[in-house]
Amino acid sequence: MSHTIRQQLTLALWLLPALASAQTMFRFPASQLADQCGNGGCTVSAYKDYGGRDYACGGVRYSGHTGTDYALVGGFSKMDYGVWAMNAARGYIESNVDGYYDRCNYWNQSNPYAACGLYTANYIIMRHPDNTQTWYWHLKAYTQQFARGTSLDCAYWIARVGSSGASTGPHLHFEYWVPGYGTDDPYAGSCGTPYTRWTSQGAYRGLPGIACQ
Ligand SMILES: [Zn+2]
Repeated sequence: MSHTIRQQLTLALWLLPALASAQTMFRFPASQLADQCGNGGCTVSAYKDYGGRDYACGGVRYSGHTGTDYALVGGFSKMDYGVWAMNAARGYIESNVDGYYDRCNYWNQSNPYAACGLYTANYIIMRHPDNTQTWYWHLKAYTQQFARGTSLDCAYWIARVGSSGASTGPHLHFEYWVPGYGTDDPYAGSCGTPYTRWTSQGAYRGLPGIACQ
């Protein structure tokens, strides 16, 4: 074994446990300033669905929902004013789509490729240091602030909340993905997962905290 390879293997063995143990934790994925989601400007309209219940055994979900919806209380006028979605943790922009119609008020179920269909949302997917992803869906068109591949520290204004794709009104669909597992839930509760992925989960139907990990 050459010296260089042995050095690389030693480095890899040293790094692996450190990477595996460093769980990325999230902050609330939008601005909590007073004119944004603060002061009751945003509300949870749907949690992840656990077969008819949300993580806390309540009914704030709809069938098959895979993330959490944070709705703009002021609707389209608040969307026009502008509310920032923010990356919930350090990471890089792995994938994104922009330019689709963003004033949907229904889900076009007959054609997923048409406006307000399942495949016509503007979105950003972030990849985090522990290899998990966070998804930011239904964004307002042409408001994305960073190119694909950009690395960001926690809590940048990444795009405005909108209503593109399968969306009945302006909201941010925030979704958490675990490699090799798929969609998961950052909320911990008696009908959900045992471990929270929020730095501060907050009260049921309240908003998570804004502290970065
Ligand atoms: Zn949703």
